[in-house]
Amino acid sequence: MSKHIEIIGGGLAGCEAAWQAARRGCAVRLYDMKPHRFSPAHSSPLLAEMVCSNSLRSDAQHSAVGLLKEEMRRLDSLIMMVATETAVPAGKALAVNREHFSQGITEHLEQHPLIEIVRQEQTAIPAPTDTPIILATGPLTSDSMTESLVQLTGRERLAFYDAIAPIVHAESLDMGIIYLKSRYDEGPGDYLNCPMNKEEYLAFIQALKGADTVPLKAFEEVKYFEGCLPIEVMVARGDNTLRFGPMKPVGLDDPRTGRYPYAVVQLRKENRQGSLYNMVGFQTKLTYPEQQRIFRLIPGMDQADFARLGSIHRNTFVCAPELLEPTLQLKSRPDLFLAGQLSGVEGYVESTAMGLLAGINASRMLRGRPLVVPPPETALGALITHLTQSDPKHFQPSNVTFGLFPDIPERALEENASHGTDQTDPQHQQYQRNRKKNKLSKAQRGELRSNTALEALALWQSIHKPL
Ligand SMILES: Cc1cc2nc3c(=O)[nH]c(=O)nc-3n(C[C@H](O)[C@H](O)[C@H](O)COP(=O)(O)OP(=O)(O)OC[C@H]3O[C@@H](n4cnc5c(N)ncnc54)[C@H](O)[C@@H]3O)c2cc1C
Repeated sequence: MSKHIEIIGGGLAGCEAAWQAARRGCAVRLYDMKPHRFSPAHSSPLLAEMVCSNSLRSDAQHSAVGLLKEEMRRLDSLIMMVATETAVPAGKALAVNREHFSQGITEHLEQHPLIEIVRQEQTAIPAPTDTPIILATGPLTSDSMTESLVQLTGRERLAFYDAIAPIVHAESLDMGIIYLKSRYDEGPGDYLNCPMNKEEYLAFIQALKGADTVPLKAFEEVKYFEGCLPIEVMVARGDNTLRFGPMKPVGLDDPRTGRYPYAVVQLRKENRQGSLYNMVGFQTKLTYPEQQRIFRLIPGMDQADFARLGSIHRNTFVCAPELLEPTLQLKSRPDLFLAGQLSGVEGYVESTAMGLLAGINASRMLRGRPLVVPPPETALGALITHLTQSDPKHFQPSNVTFGLFPDIPERALEENASHGTDQTDPQHQQYQRNRKKNKLSKAQRGELRSNTALEALALWQSIHKPL
């Protein structure tokens, strides 16, 4: 094969990347180690295997993940097309028959005249040439390839587990209870503090002790780092462990009492605009329903709307803010694109989305065209913002959520409020009252963001024609 793109990994991201490149007229060689070798979670010889759930989550266009899917459909995503063809009833979610789904994708790629599929493990990242490479070997990248990546990035910039603490939408927090303060007033005071008295703390500990956790899979036996223990492991060591660990209150005097409380849950800004907050030190393997139940016991969080819940997984991913360009090229190797979960996103849909962008950019590189970055108002762009503009010290993979998007401009709120509406309509009046309190409903915000995103995407597509 002469001028072509090499893609390593035929999972969701690699398959989407191959499709995007081939439909732009580029020849592709796609490697996957199956069926000769399987990761601990893969078992089917087919490409694009869904290793766990068969759901691609909400298909409602006014949810962040629904919007991401709609953007991908508008960019002719193979994964979205086959998912729709193989969908099974699942309410508002897009769930698929996983066998038919993987079969359909494998067949589309096998039958494409520009795609060659090589069933072979690639044990190292090829040396740089003028062939663009997309690395999409996923969260369970084979050991030899992981080692090759370590050599390129440095061990400290490659993670082997994600230890994810929950993230909460700022607007759902009760600021009548929570107060802003950094420990001993050092730093800019960016932390929100949820104070607990002794009774509240002990009740919280009791709830954690009785909570259900997600069992570890055999291949997930995690040797926890002492500095990154799950809260339930800390609680098992004694009732006061959290109070001397992530819930330490000293230096966090409540301005209303002038004293520090018995214990404190700290929330740290997750994005620049402060629309999302991360629960500091609250990485956990509690089940999702238990997290929602127990974390809503925290003073000031009884109405908490979680953008993400905590988890701990085996997961290989790079420290994207240090290593990646917004085009998904490795800064130190412009011929090498990272896609899928390895790039630092979380989830089937997000992994596919990064495959789609890597496919577009690798094709443009092969053709000598300038590379592209989607606008930040889009779901695709919001993921790129997360990858490239997060604080590298605290970087963890993320699903797409509206919290990653830029703030909705005040002007757009005005226009949306009055656009083509009957001013006497009670629903509209309620809308105006909410807006005055700066409280658009979740659905209204979703609608506004989706409309803005799809307009930005259309403009981007027209500017970069042919994209
Ligand atoms: C156990 C587990 C469960 C998950 N469950 C969910 C879930 O329910 N929902 C969800 O949204 N997300 C889930 N995820 C997260 C993530 O979205 C999926 O792992 C997703 O499949 C990632 O897509 P990907 O293309 O990056 O990697 P993958 O889909 O894993 O694809 C990587 C491919 O690369 C191949 N490969 C690896 N190394 C090499 C090599 N050296 N040479 C050649 N080929 C290689 C593998 O065989 C595989 O086919 C889960 C992850 C894990 C690990």
